[in-house]
Amino acid sequence: AQVDTLDIAVLVLLLLGSIAYFTKGTYWGVPKDPYATSALNGSASKKGSRNILEKMEESGKNCVIFYGSQTGTAEDYASRLAKEGHARFGLSTMTADLEDYDYENLDKFPEDKVAFFVMATYGEGEPTDNAVEFWEFMNQDPPSFSEASEDKPLGNLKYVAFGLGNNTYEHYNSMVRNLDKILTKLGAERIGAAGEGDDGAGTMEEDFLAWKEPMWAALAERMGLEEREAIYEPVFSVEEREDLSPESDTVYLGEPNKNHLEGAQKGPYNAHNPFIAPIAESRELFTVKDRNCLHCEIDVSSSGISYTTGDHIAVWPTNAGLEVDRLMKTFGLEEKRHTVISMKGMDPTAKVPFPTPTTYDAAVRYHMEICAPVSRQFLATLAAFAPNEEAKKEMTKLGSDADYFKEKVASQMLNIAQAVSAVHPGPWSAVPFSCLVEGLNKLQPRYYSISSSSLVQPQKISITAVVESIRVPGAGHVVKGVTTNYLLALKEMQNGDPDPSPHGLTYAITGPRNKYDGIHVPVHVRHSNFKLPSNPSKPIIMVGPGTGVAPFRGFVQERAEQAKRGEDVGHTVLFYGCRRSTEDWLYKEEWEEYKKILGDKLIVFNAFSRETAKKVYVQHHLKENGKLVNELLQQKANFYVCGDAAHMAREVNEVLGQIIAAERGVDEKKAEQVVKSMRSSGVYQEDVW
Ligand code: FAD
Repeated sequence: AQVDTLDIAVLVLLLLGSIAYFTKGTYWGVPKDPYATSALNGSASKKGSRNILEKMEESGKNCVIFYGSQTGTAEDYASRLAKEGHARFGLSTMTADLEDYDYENLDKFPEDKVAFFVMATYGEGEPTDNAVEFWEFMNQDPPSFSEASEDKPLGNLKYVAFGLGNNTYEHYNSMVRNLDKILTKLGAERIGAAGEGDDGAGTMEEDFLAWKEPMWAALAERMGLEEREAIYEPVFSVEEREDLSPESDTVYLGEPNKNHLEGAQKGPYNAHNPFIAPIAESRELFTVKDRNCLHCEIDVSSSGISYTTGDHIAVWPTNAGLEVDRLMKTFGLEEKRHTVISMKGMDPTAKVPFPTPTTYDAAVRYHMEICAPVSRQFLATLAAFAPNEEAKKEMTKLGSDADYFKEKVASQMLNIAQAVSAVHPGPWSAVPFSCLVEGLNKLQPRYYSISSSSLVQPQKISITAVVESIRVPGAGHVVKGVTTNYLLALKEMQNGDPDPSPHGLTYAITGPRNKYDGIHVPVHVRHSNFKLPSNPSKPIIMVGPGTGVAPFRGFVQERAEQAKRGEDVGHTVLFYGCRRSTEDWLYKEEWEEYKKILGDKLIVFNAFSRETAKKVYVQHHLKENGKLVNELLQQKANFYVCGDAAHMAREVNEVLGQIIAAERGVDEKKAEQVVKSMRSSGVYQEDVW
């Protein structure tokens, strides 16, 4: 019997040894959880190596795709390039968040490898938050590479570049344009053209698709790559966990990270770690029934979050139940929506965009951008999983014919489930869940210009948001903005509406495990440069029609408080505009209160566009009051514009040039120069979207 026991013990040891060998210790190694505490202090992979060359070497990669992304689009394009480079050309690719690496050793980038840069331009030609450090490094003259002596330190580097920009901004695609110049100057070799996508013209996706084909051809030629028939390979493994139920306390049901899962939320709160904030108050600002504009006061008192007037607050939305159901049904996930899944990158460099184990339902509801415009390329990818030949043909056509896609999908403003089920009602059960996670963006927080003053209410941040609701002409459906309709549902819940599901959108309003309790919303604050002058006696001119008035309510609230405290407050001029004084005049009563405090120092010009035969906008009032505007500018006023980037902000810029030309008797060219220098010196500030 003793021998038997020994035999068994030896066998068990051998068995454990083999498991250890074959699983490389993953079952008992410390699980790598990028959503654990390290994620709270910045990037998920901060604790990993910041040496990109080492990382590529270790993981056998010959192509890295860096991204500078603010809203997730650049990150999405980077992932798509990585997948395509691998599937079509056998490149061994990885994506890399620019903030996760150091760049001193870029001068040692191996000659037989290639780096892609997918760079979004943000605001006034600025880098995205995750590209700030990289940008500062590259803009040193010269950058401090490890071997600094060389004339052309990046002589070995081959690179590919694509930029995401918006032509309504002055510094259109300046990130990719400037990076391209810098890299070329440092001796790097660009392959293919530097692509530029234009969100302003609404052609981002088509610009990207048109750019990448010749780029791939040039890259294949330069690197001697051969194109092969692309077959879909999942980026993530999805394991259905019979051993776990949604009630298990290790299962994420929408909690953004480990601290949230474990119950106690902990700061610091930032873009990786939202604060689940109580909504102190919410109300409707419009008096009409068919449009909504919300005023919400978010209580940050117990969070340690601070803000200054003019900052932005980000709201982390939850998808509407109606859309979650539609997606589940279309892709055959309905029955197993509450099944627990674990996901892992098939390759160690692939990051799952949400914490797992989780459920299909929670992943879709809290982490995937399921309502956004559809990518044409993604429809082509899905063709391989069509339920029948006819559907496959149609998907292939939609994926390859830009005009047909525009007619059937883009112009109808369909989301992915709508687009796919219009081809075939489904279920499209053959589509791997990994493919959906790869093809859809990570659900992004939306930013709002804070409409309160930090001097008046440091613990309560207010938001002024118009609820997005677009009836698509001829399509018979209404596109509902993800975040603003969620906020609307929260408002209705808070104000005692028994059915907090406006338009039947049915939100999981109480959040994961009831943690949001119906009247909490996840938020974080982003600091901005859109700031009042530090000296309150300096005059200010503000142009903010519609919700563009949001930060100016904060500005005026602040100046009224300063006046109350006996400070000398300068002229405070607001150009506001809306449709009608009886419908959508935001904060109508409040201006009167501020006027009582600020007296003649506060001047508000209101443009009600639909009250007169000829439409009147803020630009008209600005022009009519050119003399006053010019006088105040000569008294060193700051000039602020907030709101619609596409038309209003651009026209205001032009009108200001015309005012300066007329009032100062200079030609238009000179006036334009004056406006430009106002911008570069921070006198002219924009907060536009
Ligand atoms: P989303 O779901 O993001 O939809 C937005 C738009 O995308 C839709 O209206 C539609 O045009 C389009 N769209 C959506 N789905 C589709 C589809 N399937 N097909 C085609 N098109 C589609 N907003 C405010 O109201 N107040 C503010 O103070 C404010 N400040 C901002 C400050 C900054 C710095 C920025 C960047 C933005 C600001 N915004 C503000 C805008 C805000 O961030 C949101 O973009 C806005 O509220 C819409 O968000 P949503 O999630 O409701 O809509």
